[in-house]
Amino acid sequence: MSTIAAISTGQAAGGIGIVRISGENAVPVADRIFESVSGVKLEKLKGYRAAFGKVKSEKGFIDEAVALVFRAPKSYTGEDVVEISCHGGLLVTKQVLRAALSNGAEAAAPGEFTKRAFLNGKIDLTRAEAVMDIIGAKSEQSEQAAFQTLEGSLFNKINKISLFLKGLAASLAAWVDYPDEEIDDISDEELLEKIESADGELRELIAGFDTGRIVTQGVETAIIGRPNVGKSTLMNMLSGYEKSIVTSVAGTTRDIVEESVSLGGIILHLADTAGLHETDDTVEKIGVDRTKKRTQRATLILAVFDSSEQLNEEDEKIFELCRGKNAVAVINKTDLEPKLNAEIINNNFKNVVYISAKNNSGIKELEQSVEKLLGTEGFDTSSAMLNNERQLACCKQAQESLAQAAEGLRAGITRDAINVNIDVAIEALDTLTGEKATESVVNEIFSRFCVGK
Ligand code: GDP
Repeated sequence: MSTIAAISTGQAAGGIGIVRISGENAVPVADRIFESVSGVKLEKLKGYRAAFGKVKSEKGFIDEAVALVFRAPKSYTGEDVVEISCHGGLLVTKQVLRAALSNGAEAAAPGEFTKRAFLNGKIDLTRAEAVMDIIGAKSEQSEQAAFQTLEGSLFNKINKISLFLKGLAASLAAWVDYPDEEIDDISDEELLEKIESADGELRELIAGFDTGRIVTQGVETAIIGRPNVGKSTLMNMLSGYEKSIVTSVAGTTRDIVEESVSLGGIILHLADTAGLHETDDTVEKIGVDRTKKRTQRATLILAVFDSSEQLNEEDEKIFELCRGKNAVAVINKTDLEPKLNAEIINNNFKNVVYISAKNNSGIKELEQSVEKLLGTEGFDTSSAMLNNERQLACCKQAQESLAQAAEGLRAGITRDAINVNIDVAIEALDTLTGEKATESVVNEIFSRFCVGK
């Protein structure tokens, strides 16, 4: 394989910038552009050794740098690697890269270092995907979940099921191929039990997918309510700073203001919305239509009511919008004299929370209510979880094949037919981990990576 190079640090000025070179000729390429202060060639260095020196191009020295040598197979890619840490300017890192490219390295494609790590057997596909997830993580939960996957939580689980099924398939095949031989027969009950246990484990993973997505990616949330109930104030309370304009003139929040806030363990992608009242004002009307669309799209609705006023027709329209949705009735302004008929709210919502957005009270109750509603209470990011649609699709395919096998067994179909189902399940699981993934699947995955990773 060719020797590749790329800037591995972010495309912004920083203290240090790293140019990574990987491949058979990584060390000779680095030696051509790097002169150590001690005069020792990198070629002489063992793995995990560093040298301080200067980087040069054909025009002269560019920068001071540290060259860190990794020797195959003990490197990220499994190949010889040199990482040159220079100063983190945009121009200087580009110049160092250019020097490497004019001295025998080729420009790395997006994700090519990680792809090589995969092709060299350093990591499986779930771990490769976790690398991207760690880089892209925007919350502690998503970082933790990605880290656990990088540590092998998903791979270990899937691989265990795959090995279990392979053992089962092997004994079934022997029984089918040599029916006259004295092979320990496995009873139908035993076979069914084994298939069902693998099926159950896969079902559990699939069932946790949506909750996992909510915990790691956050949830689209709409705050709705008639004008002046305190939607903007609630949003400000959640986000901790003034984002939308709070005023006591009805209908001032005309547009949708987007914001992501953390409510306990969950990221809410919030949209503050124009008041949901009928209006002739055309500008406001656009906002109102958007609110309805937004409500339809949202996974979670916080429906705000004013406890200091009686419910009216506009509030009843909110009941309608919330029907059949994940909605929490948030009764605001509890610091004022109560006038609202709570019974009507209780008849329309399963989840009701009392707050005073102005006084910052009731947030803990809101958090607990949302967690209960979304099923994220006690979600454990350290256990194996499916992290993306690709992994989910593979897992579903495997699970469905096992369900078919179990059904076939109960209906008394032949064992070789059951073995076909088991083989399909094994293949789907091996595609998930990458043990058997096709070139196009692999290329698809790594094309989504950034250059330098
Ligand atoms: P929106 O139209 O629903 O977004 O309502 P706003 O957030 O703009 O609030 C309308 C008015 O209600 C403002 O004067 C707020 O200061 C006031 N308000 C909001 N929350 C509370 C609360 O918890 N208690 C009291 N007393 N006033 C509040």
